[in-house]
Amino acid sequence: MRPQTPYRGRFAPSPSGYLHFGSLITALASFLDAKKNNGTWLVRIEDIDPPREKKGASDHILKTLEAFGLHWDESILFQSNQSDYYHHLIEQLFNEHHCYYCRCTRAQIKALGGIYQGHCRDLKLEKENSAIRVINQQSIVQYQDLIQGKVQCDQSLAKEDFIILRKDGLFAYQLAVVADDIYQEISHVIRGCDLLEPTARQLSFYPLLANKSSKTTQQIQAPLFGHVPLAVTEQGYKLSKQNKAPAIENNNPQPALYAALQFLGQQPPPELQYLNVDEIIQWAIIHWQLESVPKKREIQLT
Ligand code: GLU
Ligand code: ZN
Repeated sequence: MRPQTPYRGRFAPSPSGYLHFGSLITALASFLDAKKNNGTWLVRIEDIDPPREKKGASDHILKTLEAFGLHWDESILFQSNQSDYYHHLIEQLFNEHHCYYCRCTRAQIKALGGIYQGHCRDLKLEKENSAIRVINQQSIVQYQDLIQGKVQCDQSLAKEDFIILRKDGLFAYQLAVVADDIYQEISHVIRGCDLLEPTARQLSFYPLLANKSSKTTQQIQAPLFGHVPLAVTEQGYKLSKQNKAPAIENNNPQPALYAALQFLGQQPPPELQYLNVDEIIQWAIIHWQLESVPKKREIQLT
């Protein structure tokens, strides 16, 4: 493990909607693992994609976290305030020839099998109408997950030169997430299995960005990752507000909190449901065992 660095965890929702049962599971797991390890737990709002944003969602997400007793330790980081930092990183990547402009369209890539094959890497294209891709040198294809054990990722996906700045000028998730995990000195990322595969790219990207962030002169290590199972419907669909997800009600958090602990394999005693939120959370911190989280990528809600 990493005894020399303090535990710093985070929950990083995108404000594209309100929290649902699936996101509560992730928030709760990352919170409990941080608290159990006497760590710091941060909340970061990943608001880099305005067209997909739902108005009022950030506020609503924060209110839900508070209602569920998930109190964060430092001020909230909004990725929309990080543009200068991201641009600075991209500029440095350019200076060191770690990225390039690409004009391939989605249709062109699809026609080649869906994986980008490095078409524009040596074309020296200009900025106009281009995305920026990073040269993916490290190409990590497997890693040790704190929950799932050894994770083997899709080779071609893990090795793809991925986009860090979109054609429309918006920052890509892969850039912002790694940049800010470095910026916030995150040591542990506990999140949902939907991000199992992108983790390989993030691990490859981490060393490249870490030495460009002026935050510290120390060697920065990539965080450890743990992915909790995804809650899916009986038909195997990801949860959404319309289907089976137990309602997330800010004024009645106990049932969802209890169900989330059950989902995470923590075996809460039935009487816990009738306690108040802070008591439930206290119980959950004391009894939290990451080892008890099911080693599955998906669990159906029945
Ligand atoms: N913002 C991402 C999402 O809501 C999660 C990012 C992460 O946890 O790394 O899916
Ligand atoms: Zn291209």
